[in-house]
Amino acid sequence: MENKRVMSGIQPTGDIHIGNYLGAIRQWVELTRNHQCFFVIVDYHAITIDYDTTTFQDSILKAAMVNIACGLEPGTCLLFVQSHVPEHMELNWVFASCTMVGRLTNMTQFKEKAQQHETNVNAGLLNYPILQAADILIYKASLVPVGEDQLQHLELARDIARRFNRKFGEIFPEPEACGKSVRVMGLDGENKMSKSLGNHLGVLETPEEIWKKLAPAKTDVQRVRRADPGRPWMCNIYTYHEFFTPEDRRQYCYDQCQEAGIGCVDCKRILHEHLCAALAPIQGRYRELEQHPDTVRDFLNDSARQAREIAQQTMAEVRHKMGLR
Ligand code: SF4
Repeated sequence: MENKRVMSGIQPTGDIHIGNYLGAIRQWVELTRNHQCFFVIVDYHAITIDYDTTTFQDSILKAAMVNIACGLEPGTCLLFVQSHVPEHMELNWVFASCTMVGRLTNMTQFKEKAQQHETNVNAGLLNYPILQAADILIYKASLVPVGEDQLQHLELARDIARRFNRKFGEIFPEPEACGKSVRVMGLDGENKMSKSLGNHLGVLETPEEIWKKLAPAKTDVQRVRRADPGRPWMCNIYTYHEFFTPEDRRQYCYDQCQEAGIGCVDCKRILHEHLCAALAPIQGRYRELEQHPDTVRDFLNDSARQAREIAQQTMAEVRHKMGLR
C-alpha cells in the first residue's frame, strides 16, 4: 500500500466538527505520510444545492484553512479547488456517456437528497456520482478514503472505469476504498455527529462553547442520580474519552463511574480538559493562517497547477482513445 495515489473530496465549509476530524481528516493526514494525496475542495458539487453566492469564496478559503490547520500542510499533499482544474468537468461529461441513467436514479444518496431538497431536484444532484468518479479517475487514483455512505458511489466509479476501459482501451485503475471509517456519535448519543442535527462539537469552538454543549450531553441512561453507578461502556461521553483522554485518566473515569466515585459532570470536565488541549494546536494554527490568507491561496493555486498537469495528461489520453483529437 506504499506510495499509491489517494484522492478525497472536501466540502467547501469551514464548519468542521470533531466527527469530521476523527472520522476523516485524521486518516487523511496519516495517508499523506506514505502516499501521493490529492484533496479537492468540491465547489462544483456544492452548487447542486442552494448556497449563498456572496459568502461562497470565504467558505472555500475557510475550508482550506481548517484542513491545513488539522494537518493537510503544504509539502505533504495537494489541496486545491475543484473548479480550478476544469478537466474534472470535461471527464465528467465523457463519463456521463458511460453511465446508465437507471443506475443514477437508484443511488441511495440521490434519493435522500431529492427528499431533502424536493424543490430543487436538479440534474446536477443526479449526476453527482459521475463527477465524483471524474474527480478520482482524472488522477488515476487507486485509493479513496470513504465512509460507508460513499461506498455505493465508489462502486459506480469502479464500474465507470471498467466500462470506459472495455469500450475505448485501458486507461483507468479501478479505485478501492481505504482507511478505517470511524463513526462518531453526536452529543445526543443517538445519531451520527452532524451539524444539521445540531449534535456536534466544532473543531474551532472555544472552551466555553464546548462546555456549554458538553455539560448537558447524554450519558449512560441508567445513571439518573449522582449516587447511581454507571456503565461507561454504554456511555457516549466515554467514547469521546477514548479519542482524547490519556489512558490513566480514562481508566480512572472508567473505574470511578462504575463505583459512582465521580459524577458525570466531573467526568465531562476531565474530557473537556483533554478535548480542548487536543484542539488548541489546531485552533492556534488556524488563527495563524487567518493572518496570512495569501499563503493559503498560494498553496491552493500551486496545488491546482500541479494537479492540472496530471489532469491534462489524462484528458489527452482519453481524447486520443475516444477519437476526439
Ligand atoms: Fe458516562 Fe462518565 Fe457519566 Fe460514566 S461518569 S456515565 S462514563 S459521563
